[in-house]
Amino acid sequence: MKKVLVLGSTGSIGTQALEVIGASEELQAVGLAAGSAWEKTVEQAREHGVPVVALADEASAESARGTWSGRVLTGEEGVRELIVSTEPDLVLNAIVGAAGLGSTIVALTEGIDVALANKESLVLGGELVMALAEATGARLLPVDSEHSALFQLIHGEAPGTVDRLVLTASGGPFRGRDDLSGVSVADALAHPNWDMGGRITIDSATLMNKGFEVIEAHHLFGVPYDRIDVVVHPQSLIHSLIHLNDGSTLAHLGYPDMRVPISYALNYPERADVDVPQLDLAAVGSLTFEEPDPETFACLRLALEAGAAGGTAPCVLNAADEVAVAAFLAERIPFAAIPAVIERVLEEMPAQAVGHFDDLFAADAEARERSEDQIKGLMPA
Ligand code: NDP
Repeated sequence: MKKVLVLGSTGSIGTQALEVIGASEELQAVGLAAGSAWEKTVEQAREHGVPVVALADEASAESARGTWSGRVLTGEEGVRELIVSTEPDLVLNAIVGAAGLGSTIVALTEGIDVALANKESLVLGGELVMALAEATGARLLPVDSEHSALFQLIHGEAPGTVDRLVLTASGGPFRGRDDLSGVSVADALAHPNWDMGGRITIDSATLMNKGFEVIEAHHLFGVPYDRIDVVVHPQSLIHSLIHLNDGSTLAHLGYPDMRVPISYALNYPERADVDVPQLDLAAVGSLTFEEPDPETFACLRLALEAGAAGGTAPCVLNAADEVAVAAFLAERIPFAAIPAVIERVLEEMPAQAVGHFDDLFAADAEARERSEDQIKGLMPA
């Protein structure tokens, strides 16, 4: 039995992961963590027989203690204690945003394998995170569908034979448009192919998510940025491709369903049954591809530039994006202002070298403040 700790259990990835765990005889959830959704966390703990949970929000933890006899941890130390005390074989990190980096650091430091949905861990701290995994021997198993696909495609290929990585992008709800003014929150949340949490759904609409994924792939697979391509593929049936040195191209296909890459990461190196239909190519008919448009979707350009600049730049990019996306969701700024805020903050905070995780936490905090200032400047007096 593999003991799995599910961080971000109440979110889109977390709930699907518990579905995969619940359907398996080989996987057992040993702890859960969430932000403030204590009722759902307690319900999940009861359903999965989990004895201990961590809630980041202290008031929520107090409410959970009032109704549940299990152990409820909280505060900054809560997730650390959860990771150390439950002695899991695998930590699934599905916390959203920069808040997930600390858990990745703790798990890897403890030498525990991480199934990584929290792409921000690699966007912010790719070099340090990969070095930490290398030092402790803990594995990073990608959950992001594109990276799970690449992981499976690259597996077994000799070093030096993979020429290029190709990440596919659905293009989001605004594909083909060249004017994004007047876009509403409901429009931006209506992703054509994937049902995901709010932040990543908006990042998919701006294409920031694809930029994050390029940075994630660069670190995970050690491939330079100039050998990673993005192609828009609206059907989201091909999740990624690799070009090999002998002229072959390998692709990973399947219907868009996150339970597939989640199951792969949780069961690795085994494969387990997942209750999804097999791809019916004749019914699909055709697969189409197009170039992304980095002018209309400026977030993609900003992410690629920040990735190439390195140092603190991707961390600043992420922090500014988190703040700008939250402001858009709260209807404080228009959709088109998201890249404008991020670009301004990146200009104000040129890339600095990163020697330690603390450098990232400091850059993250400063970028959040500067982003708020930018947003206030945009709001009517
Ligand atoms: P959701 O917004 O649906 O869920 C986020 C989860 O994180 C919730 O459980 C939330 O708890 C928890 N959380 C938030 N802040 C904290 C904190 N400080 N401490 C502990 N837990 C916290 O996000 P998604 O599931 O969509 O995405 C999660 C991660 O996976 C992101 O990094 C995303 O980029 C990545 N990902 C998601 C995909 C998807 O299909 N959804 C696909 C590929 C990657 P609460 O409910 O209490 O707020």
